[in-house]
Amino acid sequence: MLGLMQQRPLLISTLVDYAAKWHGDREIVSRDPEGAIHRSTYAEVALRAKKLARALDALGLREGDRVATLAWNTHRHLELYYGVTSSGRVLHTVNPRLFPEQLDYIIRHAEDGYVFFDPGFGPLVAELAPRLPHVRWVSLSDRAGAPALGGGGELLIYEELLAGQTADYEWPLLDENAASTLCYTSGTTGNPKGVLYTHRSTVLHAFAACAVDGLGLSGRDSFLVVVPLFHANAWSVPFSGAMCGMKLVLPGPRLDPESLFSLMVQEGCTKSGGVPTVWLNVLSWVEANRDRLDLSQLALKTVLCGGSAPPRAIIEKFHDLLGVYLLHAWGMTETSPIVTTGAPLHKHDALGRDARIDMQVKQGRQVFGVELKLSGRGGQALPHDGVSVGELKVRGNWIVSGYFKGEGGAILDGDGWFGTGDVATIDADGYVQLTDRLKDVIKSGGEWISSIEIENLAMSHPDVFEAAVIAVAHPVWQERPLLIVHPRPGGAPTAEAILAFLSERLPKWQLPDDVVFVESLPHTATGKLLKTALRQRFHGHLAV
Ligand code: ADP
Repeated sequence: MLGLMQQRPLLISTLVDYAAKWHGDREIVSRDPEGAIHRSTYAEVALRAKKLARALDALGLREGDRVATLAWNTHRHLELYYGVTSSGRVLHTVNPRLFPEQLDYIIRHAEDGYVFFDPGFGPLVAELAPRLPHVRWVSLSDRAGAPALGGGGELLIYEELLAGQTADYEWPLLDENAASTLCYTSGTTGNPKGVLYTHRSTVLHAFAACAVDGLGLSGRDSFLVVVPLFHANAWSVPFSGAMCGMKLVLPGPRLDPESLFSLMVQEGCTKSGGVPTVWLNVLSWVEANRDRLDLSQLALKTVLCGGSAPPRAIIEKFHDLLGVYLLHAWGMTETSPIVTTGAPLHKHDALGRDARIDMQVKQGRQVFGVELKLSGRGGQALPHDGVSVGELKVRGNWIVSGYFKGEGGAILDGDGWFGTGDVATIDADGYVQLTDRLKDVIKSGGEWISSIEIENLAMSHPDVFEAAVIAVAHPVWQERPLLIVHPRPGGAPTAEAILAFLSERLPKWQLPDDVVFVESLPHTATGKLLKTALRQRFHGHLAV
């Protein structure tokens, strides 16, 4: 017998309307490239999103058409998040840090008819425009703030598009399975692939993000959105923020530690989220400037961190220096992205600092709404004993079912599981600990060595700013770990000192065969260590 409850489509427009109606005066604060603060509210952002929807109608965009952005975190970008999706078009957030060839590929592949860009990306757009003659470019500014592109071609102006419109608009009643946003994986191997989210997946994922043991977001929070709006839906914050009426603070292009810190203080930010490299820089700036900072002004309680593994030293410093809880989370573009979060269990309340931090170093436990399993090399389910190492597989309502336009073919196994390519253990409490990506695992004489574990340990050495471990070819063991270190400013560590430090913490066979020092480590466009570049450079290091 079927039940008798109503069924309404899960649509992003309902989040936008909710925020406008019930949290209409909650602030959306945005900093422009020159540092000026723009203050807006959910009501105003929703109103302008409706004007945008009408402008898109006037331009002739149909349901399902892709609209791209090349933009930092600003109120205008948020208006696009709401207006493009709620009106039935697909928002394609493009990472402007990619190379022009990759941007060209992605924009073409997505068939973006319009690209809305921050005026600061004028030179990039001037380079791209001749290659993409079918695209119309919209400067996210008024006429005075728009860049000169040269070379002809029509440049549209965002504020002019909106100025001609009223907000008299009803969001269409879409199918909840209609596409809403599109993100490409950064594609460290092969071409980037598109992940096409739906309204339904987005709303369900936002529920999980708001949940106390998810990201624990609330209308009482003020959230500094450091994670770019172009990185995996900014981890749901634009949507879950609207779901609970959370104040959003958007830092624009200024992501240096001092700008972020001052914004957090000024806007009373209680939460923030970003990749480990951002926090590495913020913490080392806070330490260097401790004498002149009044840390008591900081309202920050929780920092959400994922995208790559935050080293233990970051978690400790947040705790000891700022009294902040680092909420570790794991996921990927293909998973919307949240799968696990480091919400503590009841039993953790009684633990001391070190034992709690042991838990925080792990990637967290699975939130409700998706399923997770640890799969052995033969596909068998592995026990949750904190020791068995296997690949993480996921399935659920906000997990990809296939890439856009069928790239990569069928990607799920017969039971609907998606192989993440991440290698991990799961402990008896369900906490996942990532040891590697399959492609980064170091296969030494039949044994696997975790690069993440060695990196983490190396980064707890006081003279190490950042560390990467890669597999390099070895005549006997096939592969051995090589540690590449970016020393802390002023620090002058030696290879012997670092190896001695590691040898107290690692079994001998896992010790790196050598340590090399570099001035900086390469990162991907989303701030992860770019190990492919390191492997190319150091592949033959042990062969001599
Ligand atoms: P891409 O796959 O294009 O690099 P994603 O942002 O989708 O971009 O990256 C997802 C990957 O990032 C995961 O598969 C995992 O390897 C890594 N990752 C994400 N969160 C964490 C984390 N908390 N700890 C370690 N690695 C992480």
